[in-house]
Amino acid sequence: MSTIIVEDVPVDTRHWIDGQRRASASGQTFTDVSPIDESVLGEISAGGRAEVDAAVDAARRAFPAWAALPVSERSAILRRVADGIDARAEELSRVETRDNGSLLRSHRRGVMPRVGQNFRYFADHAVDAKHEDRQIRGHRERITYDPAGVVAVITPWNAPLMLATWRIGPALAAGDTVVLKPPEWAPLTASILADIMAGAGVPAGVFNVVQGTGTQAGAPLTAHPGIDRLSFTGSVPTAATIAAAAAPNIVPLSFELGGKSPLVVFADADLDLAVDLAVEQFDNAGQVCLGAFRMLVQDSVAEQFLERVVARAKGLVQGDPREPATDVSALVSRRHFERVAGFVERAVAAGARPVLGGGPNRDLGGLYFRPTILLDAQPGSEILTEEVFGPVLTLQTFATEEQAVQLANSTRFGLAATLVTGDPDRAERVSAQLSAGTVWVNCFFVRDLGAPFGGNKQSGIGREGGDWSFDFYCDVKNSVFSPNGWNQKGEG
Ligand code: NAD
Repeated sequence: MSTIIVEDVPVDTRHWIDGQRRASASGQTFTDVSPIDESVLGEISAGGRAEVDAAVDAARRAFPAWAALPVSERSAILRRVADGIDARAEELSRVETRDNGSLLRSHRRGVMPRVGQNFRYFADHAVDAKHEDRQIRGHRERITYDPAGVVAVITPWNAPLMLATWRIGPALAAGDTVVLKPPEWAPLTASILADIMAGAGVPAGVFNVVQGTGTQAGAPLTAHPGIDRLSFTGSVPTAATIAAAAAPNIVPLSFELGGKSPLVVFADADLDLAVDLAVEQFDNAGQVCLGAFRMLVQDSVAEQFLERVVARAKGLVQGDPREPATDVSALVSRRHFERVAGFVERAVAAGARPVLGGGPNRDLGGLYFRPTILLDAQPGSEILTEEVFGPVLTLQTFATEEQAVQLANSTRFGLAATLVTGDPDRAERVSAQLSAGTVWVNCFFVRDLGAPFGGNKQSGIGREGGDWSFDFYCDVKNSVFSPNGWNQKGEG
């Protein structure tokens, strides 16, 4: 069956290549399972080399005409895509909730409005506004941002449509064409996006979706000689594999990877705010790359802070993400659930002490892991240094500002950091010393599409957002025009 019904919404399970639906030539499929109850949602076409070749070929053929469209015409089409997303935001929310288990209310309030915005922002901030003329020693320099070609986009499951469109929006606005490989654990909303693109008048081949697993569909896409940019969001080990696959073709990469970010709470902080920010880290069952899972708290307030966080976190409601009262849902898959449980079991075996949770939610069963807080983890142990990607927070204490900075920077990641302090001078001093792509002071998750976003160290390569996206999705050219050599007087 090529269409399944999910939450009353019909979803096509095939690829979208060159403006058409296609099943895999091999006939292979993979099974899509809902994290909510581990029920099977359907069989999705599992793409391989043949589908990747067809999609890249279609994107290459579509590129010259799309790149040649006046920016205003491309922008008008992208605005229609945004309108199409807004019109179907409720359906997209329901399908994605069922597919990846994230809260329905978060999809409705935050995620899907942002998905539309990912197109509207880059339609409004036209790439040609970046072109620039300069004078240099009597010569005119013309700096242009030219479309780069075919962009491969590979995305994870924790916010699949938001993360995909955050790349697709600027890539299409820049005049590039796209091949998207959605995550196999949450493939459905990418398929609806293809319908929306078609409805908005995006020409055939400009946007393509190849469904499938990382090894079968992702790997041939990353190694394909026909791609000009590769934008990947996912884990560090996969990024290393992808970088090696893309290396022979010297394809520019944009990597947004994992994190192990700190929440640094100073004794001078507004503790109510600090507690709120700590409890917020259980959002999306901790499956958030930016999550501040390492609570670093100054000695003198640590006990009081912990007591209050535990009390608040005990009140979190775990359950079906479609229910309005639910705060914490299930983990995305059985494999991921076991990975998270393994981290906690090993930490506890090594001496860490759960003061909240510490294992599966036995009342709910399935993939529900209880919000967990661990104390006394061994310094340098994996629970303090590796990304768990689940509802698991640790707490460490520090005495001085210097120690706080040292602890905050003590992992191989550098995606984000959150500081809570009442002292503006301290806020400036400490934020300047943190190695992180984003530092939030007395706030969390305040994001702006025009700001640079990305990670330091192993949390990524490059920045996207606003102009930084165009820097990546364009070939920047400097044309130097001499004042001499013209048939008529001057350059004209
Ligand atoms: P993952 O690395 O396992 O998979 C991500 C994507 O890569 C999937 O679509 C997968 O199919 C594909 N893939 C896997 N192997 C591949 C291969 N050999 N070649 C090509 N593609 C391949 O990550 P995940 O488990 O889906 O997502 C969780 C990770 O994503 C976490 O590390 C999280 O921090 C990170 N993440 C980062 C950001 C960010 O903006 N920095 C945002 C969200 C998630």
